[in-house]
Amino acid sequence: MSARVTFWGVRGSIPCPESDFMHYGGHTSCVSVELGETLLILDAGSGLQKLGRSDLVKRYKTLHLLLSHAHLDHIMGLPFFAPLYDPAYTVHIYARPATGETVDGILKKMLTPPFSPVTTETFRATLQFHGFGDGDPLSIAHHAIATHALNHPGGSTGYRIPTETGSLCYITDTEHTVGETDQGLVRFIQNSDCLIYDSMFCDTNFAPYIGWGHSTWQEGVRLKDKANIKTFFLFHYSPDAVDEDLRDLEMRLETSYGSKVRLAKEGLCVYV
Ligand SMILES: [Zn+2]
Ligand SMILES: [Zn+2]
Repeated sequence: MSARVTFWGVRGSIPCPESDFMHYGGHTSCVSVELGETLLILDAGSGLQKLGRSDLVKRYKTLHLLLSHAHLDHIMGLPFFAPLYDPAYTVHIYARPATGETVDGILKKMLTPPFSPVTTETFRATLQFHGFGDGDPLSIAHHAIATHALNHPGGSTGYRIPTETGSLCYITDTEHTVGETDQGLVRFIQNSDCLIYDSMFCDTNFAPYIGWGHSTWQEGVRLKDKANIKTFFLFHYSPDAVDEDLRDLEMRLETSYGSKVRLAKEGLCVYV
């Protein structure tokens, strides 16, 4: 059985709950991956709240949440995630903390007054924190997941998840060097069926944002070609990218690449 991948939040930086953003979605990063009896959740952006209210999450009592990093747009959904308040759940949280930090220490920093009335002590689910180092492999319910350190201020982690028929790579919040190929990243994502990649900017408007830790959809296309990826999903859209712009881009990409290059959209569900 192939993995079912659902996009709950596809936006970068800040939620955009406005009419101009509703087609592709305003919630920040959150993607679920159903691997048989195992539910993986990639990032805990504001889309996590909607996942927490869904029937999907009710089918599992053990959840595995893999964080790319702890910037707010990737963890802001945590205090609003219903399973954390239900003692029937066990939630494993995985992240690669900076030296000297722990995963629970990082979350405690965010979930503390005066920033939040909720602390990690408020949660009633059983929480288990799993820190790991650069490039360490993870074994989650017998699934061997590879990790890769990305180029982002404070660091970010990419994940490669095996499915029964292939693999899925989640690579967000990473910056490429203009004109250079990141050979380490190409090796990491090589021959994947599905690449979800940071497409915050485009090549033509990238220059002012060099150093911000993000990439372009064109770099995603180049990686798709160099690494022999079957399907590339644009992801982590700029909060300035309104539906009209993204629709135009989607039509252009469809003409050029057919179903090999697609735009992630809130609520979209695909099988990998
Ligand atoms: Zn981000
Ligand atoms: Zn970030």
